[in-house]
Amino acid sequence: MPMKSVVVGLMIAGCVAAAGSLRVDAQTPAAQRTPGSVERNLTWPEMKTKEAQTLVAKARELAKNDLVWEAQDACLEDGPAREPDGRPRMDTLMEPLKVFDNLYYVGFEQIGTWTLRTSEGLILFDTLNNPMEAETVLEPGLRKLGLNPADIKYIILSHGHGDHYGGATYFQQKYPNARVMMTAADWEMIARPRAPGRGGNAVPLPKRDMDITDGQKLTLGDTTISFGIYPGHTPGTIMNGVPVMDKGTRRMWVIPGGALQVPNRASLQAFEHIINDYFKPLQPEMFFNSHPQTMNDGVAQLNQIRKNPNGPNPLVYGKERGARIMDIWLACRRAWVVEKEATATN
Ligand SMILES: [Zn+2]
Repeated sequence: MPMKSVVVGLMIAGCVAAAGSLRVDAQTPAAQRTPGSVERNLTWPEMKTKEAQTLVAKARELAKNDLVWEAQDACLEDGPAREPDGRPRMDTLMEPLKVFDNLYYVGFEQIGTWTLRTSEGLILFDTLNNPMEAETVLEPGLRKLGLNPADIKYIILSHGHGDHYGGATYFQQKYPNARVMMTAADWEMIARPRAPGRGGNAVPLPKRDMDITDGQKLTLGDTTISFGIYPGHTPGTIMNGVPVMDKGTRRMWVIPGGALQVPNRASLQAFEHIINDYFKPLQPEMFFNSHPQTMNDGVAQLNQIRKNPNGPNPLVYGKERGARIMDIWLACRRAWVVEKEATATN
């Protein structure tokens, strides 16, 4: 396992906003959790306003008995929690894994890159923390999975935090045919000089290449990906709809960049728009992003897939539950926005 010996530096605390609300407690009833290693003591939020209470009640109803863990996680004030990046990264490097017929994971337990294989080449979703990880973890990981990094056609950056764009410059320099995509708002955000005294992340910025727009579709060979933008985690955080093959069956995967952070009314409107107009019609069945420990205990699920690659994929919720998950998101994100508006000035 030569990759385990890679010394990984430059910890980037780009996405830790949701980590503060995470509590680790072993007392959560097992029936309410996705089976796995991350234990979260989750409860339903206590709201003061009638409208927010009604919305949370709606989320509880939608959760039935089979989505309680997911719903309580999605109904946290700042969106789904994540395990803090407290452990040494080199100890949390995962073996590269084929997760679906044409979707692969390379990276750490906390952060990684998803790679989609299409009939015309590869699409990368995020790039790890920095060029060194791109060179010593991501590129060799792809090769180990039988993928050729020279086939990368697009690199889609979910948002402008270093743990997502950090490795992009490496690929831009080594594989100049790979196009790098991010929203204009986040290209502009990362180009702004950092406030003095704010700990600089020393990650080289990728060269601005393609802009992602709201409602955009990107087709590569047999695969078309859709994009929605919802400001909140950053000014231009995206969500993607991506078709994936699961043992020969086509299923839609939604990638919530920024993990459902919807801090205000403008963010909520964009969020409701992209869910209702773009992603619900796709009838998605899977929901995970570049942080496997966020939203669905992905590390445990990845390990389960590694152990039993021919079994049913634990990341698949199915269409009926997928529709309920998105309605739960809508109810809980709206609940927190109306709650905060009502309690902010009065
Ligand atoms: Zn982030």
